Amino acid sequence: MTSTVESGPVPAIDAESARRAYELDRKHVFHSWSAQDLLDPMVITAAQGSYVWDGDGNKYLDFTSQLVNTNIGHQHPAVVSAIAAQATKLCTIAPSYANDARSEAARLISARTPGELDKIFFTNGGADANEHAVRMARLHTGRHKVLSAYRSYHGGTHLAVNLTGDPRRWASDSGSTGTIHFFPPYLYRSAFHASTPEEESERALAHLEQLISLEGPSTIAALILESIPGTAGIYMAPPGYFEGVRELCTRFGIVLIADEVMAGFGRTGKWFAVEHFNVVPDLLTFAKGVNSGYVPLGGVAINPEIAATFGQRAYPGGLTYSGHPLAAAAAVATLNAMEDERMVEHAAALGETVIGPALDGFAERHRSVGEVRGVGVFWAIELVRNRETREPLAPYGGSSQEMNQLVAACKSRGLLPFTNFNRIHVVPPCNTSVADTKAGLAILDEVLDIADGFAD
Ligand code: PLP
Repeated sequence: MTSTVESGPVPAIDAESARRAYELDRKHVFHSWSAQDLLDPMVITAAQGSYVWDGDGNKYLDFTSQLVNTNIGHQHPAVVSAIAAQATKLCTIAPSYANDARSEAARLISARTPGELDKIFFTNGGADANEHAVRMARLHTGRHKVLSAYRSYHGGTHLAVNLTGDPRRWASDSGSTGTIHFFPPYLYRSAFHASTPEEESERALAHLEQLISLEGPSTIAALILESIPGTAGIYMAPPGYFEGVRELCTRFGIVLIADEVMAGFGRTGKWFAVEHFNVVPDLLTFAKGVNSGYVPLGGVAINPEIAATFGQRAYPGGLTYSGHPLAAAAAVATLNAMEDERMVEHAAALGETVIGPALDGFAERHRSVGEVRGVGVFWAIELVRNRETREPLAPYGGSSQEMNQLVAACKSRGLLPFTNFNRIHVVPPCNTSVADTKAGLAILDEVLDIADGFAD
């Protein structure tokens, strides 16, 4: 199997240095979201395109894009050399100065964002982008409350994790005042007893409208929504839902923030996932795919009205590394490479002609598959013990022996899978070749045979 991105020979694996990396990690590194003593991290020694290698030289097809960020795959040569060239020229400069890499990154991003979201505030990642978007919305409206959906993720910082609507919030739910959650549409497990996408859309909007009126529209600054929720489960909004949310926000003077941290920059087969709907948000947050995560970068794209609020009045917020030149240069090279190599179109075609049809086939053949859903290179396979009861193969907020076995089965076949609770997500880089995508799907097909053994 070969990946589409060839960028020179893969370095020889140094087993001794891999062993030392593991030992030092276990001794000194404190990992995210984990019980430290239970960890057994794989050492990654090399990566190219859609592949990574472990410390023993085993090769894996990366169907995770790491944390769904390497949209152009690993070690894209144009981006690696742009970072090196920028490092030689100017590694860092304070945000108050103008800088060519930052200016060009802002131009390229604003050229792709919908509507007139033409001013870019750069952050270090997605959580702080959402924190700043909410701060802007609060100052712009003079209101405080923020609405967000259950089954969402908005980041690990205090406000962002309180806005989050999945179990990652639970331990830190110490109260960021004014964060209120609503039920988003999710027909497979409908909170509204709906039986069609249209019914789900209509009822979810009625619920949201009622929640807004009960909370008091004049108290609500913003509503934040992942354009297509990611780690929380990849849910395409049913017809009319996103447009209905836009209408409610406009009617009640609420700032609509589209969180495109995971769904943006080609992942869904469009530059931004909001383009699947007829919607322009007031603020759009991004990170990850903007430069494939080669150097940390995030940001907020701002509409003219909100930007004007801070025309004569200082915006009270900033970061030492806002628009860091190395990160900005990586973004410029990433966006140009995506355009030149037509990666967004490729991601759309992979979804339509390869991944979508294969997953539909899984749903027909495998009794453990409850539902498949997605678009582009952004798909979820929801696994159940029983198709009638829809009992998930792992509890909400937890894992199970069975899911762990499926992960191990993927890895032993050379596939890195992305799993969350009872779901396997198919989220390879946007430029994964058709052959590699099919090879990964063939492995998943085999692994689902094992999953079928867990289902009635
Ligand atoms: N928003 C969404 C939709 C995300 O998927 C993530 C991260 O996975 C974040 C925000 C937080 O981004 P970061 O981890 O860069 O802070």
